[in-house]
Parts: sequence; C-alpha cells; structure tokens
Amino acid sequence: MKGIWGAVLLALLVGCGSKGGGSSSDAVKKAGPGFNIDEKPAEVQFLLPDLLPIKYHIAEDFSEDEVDGIMDVKQSWQAADALGVKFFDKNILIDENIDENDDRAYQDTTVGIYLRRSWENHPSNALAVTIYQKKGLFDDDGKLISSVMFNPDILFNYKDHEFTTDPANVSATDFQSVLVHEMGHLLGLQHVQSTKETVMFPSISPGEILREPQEIDKSHLYHNYKAYQDFSREYGYMVSGNQKGIVTQGTSLPSGFRFGKTENVAIYLMKDGTCVHKVNGKVVKVER
Ligand SMILES: [Zn+2]
Repeated sequence: MKGIWGAVLLALLVGCGSKGGGSSSDAVKKAGPGFNIDEKPAEVQFLLPDLLPIKYHIAEDFSEDEVDGIMDVKQSWQAADALGVKFFDKNILIDENIDENDDRAYQDTTVGIYLRRSWENHPSNALAVTIYQKKGLFDDDGKLISSVMFNPDILFNYKDHEFTTDPANVSATDFQSVLVHEMGHLLGLQHVQSTKETVMFPSISPGEILREPQEIDKSHLYHNYKAYQDFSREYGYMVSGNQKGIVTQGTSLPSGFRFGKTENVAIYLMKDGTCVHKVNGKVVKVER
C-alpha cells in the first residue's frame, strides 16, 4: 500500500511544476495539427470515457455574454483535439446554480460550471477551482499508469473577484481566460510553469488574456487521451463508470492492473502566482 501512495503523491507533486518534458535538442516531431508531441505532461489523466461527450450544466446565474464565452471556450478545446475524441456535446443545459461550501454538493450526476457567491473552504485569492475525484490505475509493480477522473465541476469565485468578457476591461479578470484554464483541468491537464505560452499557467492577472489552448496544451491533451486509447487497445479493456465512480461491469481489469483509492482533488487558479493543489482536503503543494 505504501508504494502505491508514494506513487500517487509523487505524481501530484510533479504536476504543479511541470516543465513540459520538452527536448530541445531532439528533432521536433510534428503530429497532425502541428504541435510538438515530445511535450509530454508530468501526469497523465483522462476523464472517465462514459462522461464524454460532456454536456455541461451551466448555472443560470451566468450572463448571456458569459454563456457565449463558455460556448467559445468549449469549441477552442474541441479544436485542440488531434485524436478524434468528441469531448463536448454541442448542446449545453442552463440549469439551477449550486452555491454550497461543501464540495460534496457537486458530486451529482452533472458536469457543471457554477457561479459561487460564497467561498468558505477555498482560498480567497483563488479565481476559480476545478474539483474532481480520481482513481489511479496501477500496474503490477505499483507504478501509476494513468489516473481516471470523475465527478468534475468548475466553480468561479465571484465572492472575491470580478470577471469580464470584455477584453477592453483591464481592471477585471478575463472570464474566458479563466475558463479555458479550468476546462483544461477538467480534461486532465495539470499546471505548466515553464512558459507563459500555455493556458495552464497557475495564475492570471486582471487584463491578461489568453483564451485558446496553445501548442503545449494541445500536446498534453493528446497524451492524456492517447494513453487511454493505447491501454484500451492493447488490453481490450474499456474503463467504464459514471459520476459515482469506476465500475467494472462484465469485464475485469487486465490481470496485474488495479485501481487505487478515490481521491478528492481541488486545483486552483490563483491571482498571485501561487500554485495550490488540495487532495482529500489537504494542501499537497504550494509554490511560487
Ligand atoms: Zn489551475
């Protein structure tokens, strides 16, 4: 057991300070849409395939402009796909807002984007948070192959921050730039701090605008889902489940593989450059 948790913790620790894994000396390999596939994420994780394509439940408290922004960001992540994965349903559902301080209130049957006016159990300098649960998939030696995410939701901190969809308003934080980051987390991406040419940089200031996934983001997205495609192809096994977790109906995992325990993850986008992750309510990494 100790070895397994060591692997999980290690994966979480490297997630914050990902240097992108690029190799500048090697010949640049180009995939279809023209990004460097040598840019590998420090941690590979993918959304439970049963949750795809995502049909977002959008809190009715968002403005029309914000909902338009959500549609644009959704499209920009779909356009970043190089594997033919259908990440999003073309429709969204405008639904009742959930504004609860207990994160368990979001462990429902929906993948939601919510507007929070209360913000008790998260840091106030966090602009937004993506919360999810995950299980590690381990091989015979206890090595983490990948993590499978379920129950993801995006929460915006409207208690402490002002957001705008208007690029000319430089005193508020750009809504779409925050959302493109959070949607990246929801698709399994971790923070990247080695460059600012990424939507996964762990902080953003008012007036900063970057609304579309960059090359490194596209490459990380590719590797997250390629890992799953390769695994399912090699072993003829489809990871299956629902919002409640992973189930193995009918088929069992290929021998030697096993899932770890469920972890509750909160990963923040900060206003001041601090990278914060919480796992099961405990801060596991803070870095400037
Ligand atoms: Zn983040």
